[in-house]
Amino acid sequence: MEIEIATIGGYEEVGRQMTAVRAGNDIVIFDMGLNLSKVLIHDNIQTEGMHSLDLIDMDAIPDDRVMSDLDGEVRAIVPTHGHLDHIGAISKLAHRYDAPVVATPFTLELVRGEVEDEQKFGFENDLIKMDAGETMQIGDHGLELEFVNVTHSIVQAINPVLHTPEGAIVYGLDKRMDHTPVIGEPIDMKRFREIGREGNGVLCYIEDCTNANKQGRTPSENVAREHLRDTLYSMEDYTGGIVATTFSSHIARVKSLIEFAREIGRQPILLGRSMNHYSGTAQQVGIDFPSDVQTVGYRRAIDQTFERIMNDGKGNFLPVVTGHQGEPRAMLTRMARGETPYELDDGDKVVFSARVIPEPTNEGQRYQAEKLLGMQGARVYTDIHVSGHLCQEGHYEMLDALQPQHVIPAHQDLKGFSGYVDLAANQGYVVERDVHITSNGNIIQLA
Ligand SMILES: [Zn+2]
Repeated sequence: MEIEIATIGGYEEVGRQMTAVRAGNDIVIFDMGLNLSKVLIHDNIQTEGMHSLDLIDMDAIPDDRVMSDLDGEVRAIVPTHGHLDHIGAISKLAHRYDAPVVATPFTLELVRGEVEDEQKFGFENDLIKMDAGETMQIGDHGLELEFVNVTHSIVQAINPVLHTPEGAIVYGLDKRMDHTPVIGEPIDMKRFREIGREGNGVLCYIEDCTNANKQGRTPSENVAREHLRDTLYSMEDYTGGIVATTFSSHIARVKSLIEFAREIGRQPILLGRSMNHYSGTAQQVGIDFPSDVQTVGYRRAIDQTFERIMNDGKGNFLPVVTGHQGEPRAMLTRMARGETPYELDDGDKVVFSARVIPEPTNEGQRYQAEKLLGMQGARVYTDIHVSGHLCQEGHYEMLDALQPQHVIPAHQDLKGFSGYVDLAANQGYVVERDVHITSNGNIIQLA
């Protein structure tokens, strides 16, 4: 059976992930993501009404025109998890394919939200739920799709595996090896080891190189949780304002914030549209997340909530807000500029349970937000966070578990791939023979 892999997006950047695997006449697409930084750099763009081709020209979504060079039928579109760089282009591209979107329940709900907001294209693809550990048949030529449970900075992430007669194709974006996650099951390393040894083994492994240049191993979410607990407990006797911010899609982190706020005697309130969206989705699909937390999404209601907090006393509350990257229109930035009824006083605490995404725009905006908060007298706590991506020892363990014949580094640019290529070369892989360094829009023939 002929096997081809089209590396469509996310092979020159972090963002707009998209990969297609053709096995014989059947094609499975993994991820259809958005590169949000390419959108945000333009002021006030509303992508909902925009045409795909314009977004492709902006490098915001994958240029999927290479799909016409793949000779076969698309059978499934499989987003690995709910981050926008993996699902954000589904509303713009999926309608071109007569295939269902197959994902875990939380991811699928987020996809549903994305396509409901879409104004330019009609989305009629079926949405099929599949949990980690489950499989589905693809086409009529012996292909099977399997979801293996992985751990990442969003719940219900999986690595899809396409089993073919030539061996398994393992699509390895995005994960860390977490054996003590705060929500959900540990990463299923047992299954990865089995896949590496059964049948014809692993023909190809496509790997997330986000942290491939970082030594060591990525700590568990439990480490970030304990760091957060320690930080908030240190503020237990403080009677003024405490405000926290994190990724609103990071359900496990938001859950930890809610629990520790309550333990130090404060009422947590989630503020901001995206906080509302992700937490609501988590509750809706039955994730282990507090159902009794107050969440306020819209600006007018948020300002009313801030007024109530000021009247009742800031010391009784812990607002969890958007703006961990210093985004100009996010809640925390508005608070820092003094544009909300919440007044920061000397000594008030602001907790960033996030790391700055290393990108000039983010770094500049975050610097500005921290300076503005400091000018109001706030004490700023940064970097209470662990990454969602494997570092080098995790990559070593994955190669050891899967023993793939071929590897394709992804989710980075050339500089980002370098650490991974080094590591693979030390494991006996040879560039161009079995390590395929590629870019967007290429097709790699494997069998
Ligand atoms: Zn991700």
